[in-house]
Amino acid sequence: MPDTPTLEEFRTEITAFLDANAEPKVVDTAFEWGKGDDDVALFEEVDREAEKVEVAKAQEWRAKRFDAGFGWISGPEEYGGRALPGAYDRLYPGLEARYKVPNQSFFGIGLGMVAPTILAHATPEVKDAYLRKMYRGDIVGCQLFSEPGAGSDLASLQTKAERDGDEWILTGQKVWTSGAQYSDIGEIICRTDADLPKHKGLTGFVVDMHAPGVEIRPLRQMTGGASFNEVFFTEVRVPDSHRLGDVNQGWSVALTTLMNERASIGTGTAGGMGLANISRLAEMCRYFGVIDDPIVRQRLADVYINFQVSKFTNQRAMDKIKAGQLPGPEMSIAKLSLTNNLWRTANFVADVLGPRIIANTGEWGTYAWGQLLLGVPGMKVAGGTDEVMKNIVGERVLGLPKEPGIDSKTAFKDLLVGTQTN
Ligand SMILES: Cc1cc2nc3c(=O)[nH]c(=O)nc-3n(C[C@H](O)[C@H](O)[C@H](O)COP(=O)(O)OP(=O)(O)OC[C@H]3O[C@@H](n4cnc5c(N)ncnc54)[C@H](O)[C@@H]3O)c2cc1C
Repeated sequence: MPDTPTLEEFRTEITAFLDANAEPKVVDTAFEWGKGDDDVALFEEVDREAEKVEVAKAQEWRAKRFDAGFGWISGPEEYGGRALPGAYDRLYPGLEARYKVPNQSFFGIGLGMVAPTILAHATPEVKDAYLRKMYRGDIVGCQLFSEPGAGSDLASLQTKAERDGDEWILTGQKVWTSGAQYSDIGEIICRTDADLPKHKGLTGFVVDMHAPGVEIRPLRQMTGGASFNEVFFTEVRVPDSHRLGDVNQGWSVALTTLMNERASIGTGTAGGMGLANISRLAEMCRYFGVIDDPIVRQRLADVYINFQVSKFTNQRAMDKIKAGQLPGPEMSIAKLSLTNNLWRTANFVADVLGPRIIANTGEWGTYAWGQLLLGVPGMKVAGGTDEVMKNIVGERVLGLPKEPGIDSKTAFKDLLVGTQTN
């Protein structure tokens, strides 16, 4: 490929774009207690009006980045990608992180999970209609999988899709839908044949979140914010062209999304909380006079060592991908390691701070940690609970036998005997 820049040339190209369009962050290596931002929240707590402004800023930046050729670096050219190898894609985020750019988390689900599923399973019409717009930030996507009776056991979902000529009619309820309030499209998995076993009668679709019959209601979480929703579908019409994969083959569509979800959560950093910087915790211990306590020192070291172990394990997985190999068990334990590390940290901080973590005295770096403590349980559930991840490691990595069940052979409608159906 004569036009392919070398990685070094590409780095120069990215840096020139960032220099021209964003302000560099001040590199502050020495952490000082009481200075700067003490926000360590895992979930955004902004109100929905303020969020709209943030989304608009994020979209503006995303469009600028896309128009400069950095919106979908490894994506196919026909959908606005640069068709460069994965290594070029991996170069960009580290360089952008050195600059002050608007919060890009609104695109995490759409680009991390929904777009790769569209690329793998959608019709050419849907790929044409959405992929470029998604990577340019013109539209945002969400994931409509979980239901009140189907979370870990996703294949038990009951939202129905019934065929009506060239359209499908969707009726049912989804829940815990992150970002539905600012999304334009959603990837939804529906039941299309209850006479088949539960994994076999599902079909995936791309649904317009602004279509008549879609109702989005916020759900408040214990951190105080409302970053997710319940979404009701009342006879929502979806064109057959918006089907993902074949009819009744929705389970493999869902698996494409879930694999991308787990990889992106697990290998995500805890950098936003400043946890990568152990000094924040060490300085807290010093400030509250417990830095010489041997038990505290041991627990602090434990937190640090475990973050390092995860970092190197993730690095090993990334190196395998770079070398063109398939990542192995590292990916299965990535999410578990992250949540265990966050939990260990939150408990350590709670013990050091004592009542300061629950009583807001206005003191810097104390009450703010409550947001982490209250947010970790959500992380332990989102994208596959810890218990479910352990089952996966047990069965697929360690080769332990699967739990026996009747689910794989029995018609879904017969599994519902005695339960309410919609
Ligand atoms: C922050 C956050 C964001 C989310 N965003 C989205 C989103 O955008 N879209 C979406 O579709 N969903 C989303 N979810 C939902 C999430 O995928 C589900 O909460 C998750 O799959 C668990 O399902 P559940 O809540 O129904 O719990 P359940 O599946 O009912 O689990 C209850 C408990 O039982 C345990 N358990 C269940 N099955 C087993 C088993 N086989 N073996 C051992 N233990 C088991 C679980 O570990 C858990 O402790 C989000 C959740 C959170 C917390």
